[in-house]
Amino acid sequence: MSKPVCYSTKAFSAATASSPLGATTIERREPTPTDVKIEILYCGVCHSDLHFARNEWHFTQYPAVPGHEIVGRVASVGSGVKKFKVGDKVGVGCLVDSCRTCPSCQQGLEQFCDLGMAGGTYGGTEKHLGTPTLGGYSQSIVVTEDFVLRMPDNLDLAAAAPLLCAGITTYSPMRHWKVGPGQKVGIVGLGGLGHMGLKFAKAFGAHVVLFTTSASKVADAKRLGADEVVISKDEKQMAAHAGSFDFILDAVSAAHDINVYMNLLKRDGNLTLVGAPEHPLPVAAFPLLMHRRSLSGSLIGGLPETQEMLDFCGKHNITCDIEMIKMDEINAAYERMLKSDVKYRFVIDMASLK
Ligand code: NAP
Ligand code: ZN
Ligand code: ZN
Repeated sequence: MSKPVCYSTKAFSAATASSPLGATTIERREPTPTDVKIEILYCGVCHSDLHFARNEWHFTQYPAVPGHEIVGRVASVGSGVKKFKVGDKVGVGCLVDSCRTCPSCQQGLEQFCDLGMAGGTYGGTEKHLGTPTLGGYSQSIVVTEDFVLRMPDNLDLAAAAPLLCAGITTYSPMRHWKVGPGQKVGIVGLGGLGHMGLKFAKAFGAHVVLFTTSASKVADAKRLGADEVVISKDEKQMAAHAGSFDFILDAVSAAHDINVYMNLLKRDGNLTLVGAPEHPLPVAAFPLLMHRRSLSGSLIGGLPETQEMLDFCGKHNITCDIEMIKMDEINAAYERMLKSDVKYRFVIDMASLK
């Protein structure tokens, strides 16, 4: 495969694990026949961006450009592109490629590609150039059409950006575990993922309890749809819910005691972990053994389910509660994210990078 021609585009990158993000220029491939070039209008700020920029998962290559909640308009298309035309409103999430032939890819579960070829929007390998992939804190991106999503027309584009990661990461496990009417569902942590988990659990008809460490978020949790809100540090409030949940989604970004939530599950209840803290979480045997409970994980979602989730949000008018920032406010936004002070997703207005 000959190397495609490249072009330059403005971006924000981290040079090392400890340096703040700053302005830079990066190279991207010009569209090949199956590629779509997207002018990025907005990019959500996921806690994974912070874990990645600071090498908390120990695989970051520098300079690193985070950003995998990308929305924008199609700027140009390769000669063989069938699904998109110039001007279309599109999105790109955490994946930009996969093998497409293994059983998982064939079933639309590209995030679990059996050949290990699920290509991250950042932190993966740009297979045309042989360089690390660079994410959405940037003016434009080029993505193969199969990994580009169609954004519902009726949704505000900026408020829909976080659906590309926070949305699908919470939608997918709740669909998998068949969350629905008559169930009691817990959401742990009212951050970017948690607030979307709350909205989806409500939309699916469950009775939803939101667990938070922040007393200041109780009113917001109720406004966002929680039937009950529990301050997780309050043992009495926690004990009142012992053995009562069908399903709990844990979306916490830092070290915390997962066993207290296992104790809240009823027989055959499941706790799915989507939070990805830097350090391992100790799991005690007995809370898991008792009542045949299960603990599982979930990683974003495949392309078909991501489109299904976007269409569901279009139909039910579901978007994220966002705080718009300028590109050069990103370092301050990261510090606020570390203090659990996000209401409830930062989204970068990419016009501020020009
Ligand atoms: P976020 O917006 O920063 O929200 C995290 C929330 O966790 C906080 O708002 C806070 O909620 C709670 N929290 C933070 N520190 C805590 C602590 N020490 N103890 C207890 N609770 C704490 O983060 P996010 O973007 O939603 O991401 C959450 C996690 O999911 C991150 O680790 C991220 O990397 C991961 N993630 C995973 C996937 C996946 O595919 N599995 C996809 C995207 C993100 P309260 O104030 O309500 O307590
Ligand atoms: Zn993310
Ligand atoms: Zn595959």
